[in-house]
Amino acid sequence: MNAPVRRRRVGVLGGSFNPPHLGHLVIASEAFYQLGLERVVFVPAADPPHKTVADATPAAVRVEMTRLAIAGDERFCVSTIELDRGLKYTVDTLRALAGEYPGAELVFIMGSDSLLQFEAWHEPQAILELCRLAVAVRAGDDERRLDAVAAGLGRRRALVLRTPLIAVSSTDLRSRVRMDMPLTYLVPRAVEEYVRRHDLYVVR
Ligand code: ATP
Repeated sequence: MNAPVRRRRVGVLGGSFNPPHLGHLVIASEAFYQLGLERVVFVPAADPPHKTVADATPAAVRVEMTRLAIAGDERFCVSTIELDRGLKYTVDTLRALAGEYPGAELVFIMGSDSLLQFEAWHEPQAILELCRLAVAVRAGDDERRLDAVAAGLGRRRALVLRTPLIAVSSTDLRSRVRMDMPLTYLVPRAVEEYVRRHDLYVVR
């Protein structure tokens, strides 16, 4: 008898990627390995309509850095779907990606800070109907609490992954630049070179 054919699984990692860093790459790689993904699609967020946010970096720049960050890794790709279609909500992005990967099971990869805010997202129930969540623990978050929150979202809708803890955030990296500290090994070399060449994050 033939073994049952499993649905292909595609990972989706949405974020600002301002800049992309080791934490993003490690959670994408761990999700790929642990969940048997076919690929991981990095989806940089579009610019907010009113750029009052400190450190706002144009979406085109964040996309370019994300491309540089994953260059040479065939497991990963970048989608500009949120910029191209002006998508603001994850639920709409997932609907659009479901059209691009027909028949695939989508797995939305996130850090535990995102899981803890998930109920406040736009249409969380609809998101859970479109994908499963794969959650990587971030430094400082309690694993048992995360398991409980994940279980509360419904049977098998969210899974807390055991991955190496990478205590790096884009916020920290932007302040490191302002304080003249190195980014070495915290971001891929090509991303560090891009940040330096374009004087990103120097002035608040
Ligand atoms: P910022 O500090 O600007 O808020 P960030 O480092 O959280 O940025 P984002 O691009 O906003 O990066 O993150 C995209 C996704 O990756 C989010 O779900 C976030 O939780 C997750 N993530 C980011 N860094 C890590 C990390 N070090 N470990 C686990 N998950 C992470």
